[in-house]
Amino acid sequence: MANSVTQRAGHAENLANKPGGRDQAAKICKGLGVKNPPFAYHRPETLDEALLLLAQIGEEAKIMSGGQSLLPVMAIRLGQPENIIDISQIRGLDSIETESDIVMFGALVTHSQAEASPVTRDSVPLLHKAMPYIGHRAIRNRGTLCGSLAHADPAAELPAVALALDAELIAASTDGARFIAAEDFFSGFLSTTLQQNELLVGVRFHQAPAGMLTSVQELSRRHGDFALVGLTCVLQLSSDGLVDSAALSFFGVASTPSRATQAEQSLVGSRPTTELFEEIANMVSNELDPPSDTHASANYRKHAAGVLTKRALADCMSQTGVLT
Ligand SMILES: Cc1cc2nc3c(=O)[nH]c(=O)nc-3n(C[C@H](O)[C@H](O)[C@H](O)COP(=O)(O)OP(=O)(O)OC[C@H]3O[C@@H](n4cnc5c(N)ncnc54)[C@H](O)[C@@H]3O)c2cc1C
Repeated sequence: MANSVTQRAGHAENLANKPGGRDQAAKICKGLGVKNPPFAYHRPETLDEALLLLAQIGEEAKIMSGGQSLLPVMAIRLGQPENIIDISQIRGLDSIETESDIVMFGALVTHSQAEASPVTRDSVPLLHKAMPYIGHRAIRNRGTLCGSLAHADPAAELPAVALALDAELIAASTDGARFIAAEDFFSGFLSTTLQQNELLVGVRFHQAPAGMLTSVQELSRRHGDFALVGLTCVLQLSSDGLVDSAALSFFGVASTPSRATQAEQSLVGSRPTTELFEEIANMVSNELDPPSDTHASANYRKHAAGVLTKRALADCMSQTGVLT
């Protein structure tokens, strides 16, 4: 019996890869109780081949890197791409490279690889601190940084990290490559400004300047769950101890990652004190306009965002040993 199921699944796979064969493949899959809808599967071995496939197939194609978000999305039928272009076997996309003050993570760098890299720890500490919050070890072993950014889940950590650090995303197509600033990349719930014929080949971060203070705070029901509310925070102090620059980049509070720009502006030029942080936390709660859903109400999220802000700012200052 097991053999017959295997044979029927193989037959469905063959049909799905033939023009016009998807409907029949779908019927076979349904009969077998298969979780994902049928799709044609492509596994290019070079970037050029992948870009050509994307250009040829167009809207019906989806890139797959680690599959940790795409496959669950397909399993619940939130997306049913007719073609999957699996880029996991393309060589040369899994490196972490440093050039002058830039650190570049290639498209296939996994969360675990980035987490274990001393380059991430030393040069992009905010990214390093965010890693343990992403799902669980098994997910981090397969999921990629670029996959997370392209997926653009508003409750995910990495889009907020990219926004806080003014990261640049590198998109490639058969027409060439272009750089997209993180603030121009996230356009809505699970949506980005990537064009249909483009794939992300990497993401670039500036190396953290000396004295950069960073913190990641989040509230979730259980460790590894997506955040109800989360915050990635960056502070830079001037030599006289005032706040020189600040980034408060939230996740789980809107359809995209969002910075609390008014609160950031109020921090700049101020002396960091617990009283100031209390004020900033209140400003954040007023500035953000989170949604209510089955996980938490808007008011709860506003309050939690304020609490996390205080924690993040105090955590940053604890790295200097100074808080008046
Ligand atoms: C149980 C569970 C818990 C999780 N918890 C968290 C969590 O707490 N926080 C968190 O941030 N994430 C979480 N994730 C998601 C995880 O981080 C994924 O690894 C990540 O979001 C997507 O990476 P991927 O490489 O698996 O992408 P894939 O699943 O392969 O792709 C995701 C999407 O991005 C597109 N895509 C992928 N790579 C590229 C590329 N190079 N160029 C263009 N488009 C591309 C795909 O077409 C697809 O639309 C969780 C996942 C699971 C299953």
